[in-house]
Amino acid sequence: VLKVTEFISANDLASLMDVSVNQVIATCMSLGMFVSINQRLDAEAITIIADEFGYEVEFAKPDEEIEAAEEEDSVEDLQDRAPIVTIMGHVDHGKTSLLDYIRRSKVTADEAGGITQHIGAYDVRTSDGHKIAFLDTPGHEAFTAMRARGAKITDVAIIVIAADDSIMPQTKEAINHAQVAGVPMIFAINKVDKPNANPEKIKEELANMNLLVEDWGGKYQSQDISAKTGLGVDELLEKVLLEAEILELKANPNKRAVGTVIEASLDKGRGYVATIMVQAGTLKVGDIMLAGPHYGRVKAMFDHKGKKLSEAGPSTPVQVLGLGGAPQAGDTFKVYETEREAREIANSREQLLREQSMRTKKHITLDEIGRRL
Ligand code: GDP
Ligand code: MG
Repeated sequence: VLKVTEFISANDLASLMDVSVNQVIATCMSLGMFVSINQRLDAEAITIIADEFGYEVEFAKPDEEIEAAEEEDSVEDLQDRAPIVTIMGHVDHGKTSLLDYIRRSKVTADEAGGITQHIGAYDVRTSDGHKIAFLDTPGHEAFTAMRARGAKITDVAIIVIAADDSIMPQTKEAINHAQVAGVPMIFAINKVDKPNANPEKIKEELANMNLLVEDWGGKYQSQDISAKTGLGVDELLEKVLLEAEILELKANPNKRAVGTVIEASLDKGRGYVATIMVQAGTLKVGDIMLAGPHYGRVKAMFDHKGKKLSEAGPSTPVQVLGLGGAPQAGDTFKVYETEREAREIANSREQLLREQSMRTKKHITLDEIGRRL
């Protein structure tokens, strides 16, 4: 039995189990999880990995009693929320181009002039007024890293496939990750502006993988697009909204905010800056938030155009200033009523991390002594 706490890193877990970190990472990869050495793992991942090495896990969670549960919602509190979309696919098939095209073309006139920042996520409004949020870190590494940390933020996955190419290894991986995560997929068959594009060949290849698109009588939505000219992109977004409608995505905007950290860093002039996705409730300037082991009062919030916001509701990505440290991508955040509450939990989480690293250090030392003897 392995006694661990949440937030343990792949490296620490490896030394606790007395195996090399490479073995742990290799095991993660064989399970479809991509982790780096110092990446912290979530409970589910720890359990699965430990099991692979023949260990049972016992979680120590001293902050359980003081940690307030998320407020419960009654049905009448729930309101429709925008879908959150991740774009995945093989390298050079056009993920970045598609994200850029959508961001450029969907900035409305009154918002123009603002300098677009790369904050890891953005949201747009379609021509008929519907909102869609995009995670702006294409590629399934980010997707799997988030999921390995237990973060579930993607509602719909767009799988980009270049029509002048074929289904490639990373296309298959992306499809596999979406399927494992139970996230519905829409195929965006890209580069149809190219003379050698052959979208039908791609659909045939999909069919050979048992993924029948609608044109072929199947259940998967697909759309021929050009991320270069914008052809088909509006139709693609409509299909995202259709998928979202089927999913009946809802959240209660009238409670303290909860959500997930997308990225965070230290900015020389502004202190710790975190891009977060609000998933339920409404985050307001002045709120006390806790993200991973860091807490603070929200000093200011910005959208991806650098526009100041005073509040952000469900499915809204925002950049937040005011945390006392940089949480990791995939950490959850929560707003607390009092600073004392947030501080206590932050302290206990930090202490857990410290104890953890002390324990693993001791372990390494004993281990090394053993080897020398
Ligand atoms: P990513 O690796 O999936 O992010 O792919 P990129 O967006 O970087 O695109 C790879 C290359 O394909 C770039 O040179 C793009 O300009 C080009 N490209 C992407 N989409 C299209 C498209 O719809 N039509 C054409 N002709 N080129 C495209
Ligand atoms: Mg790219």
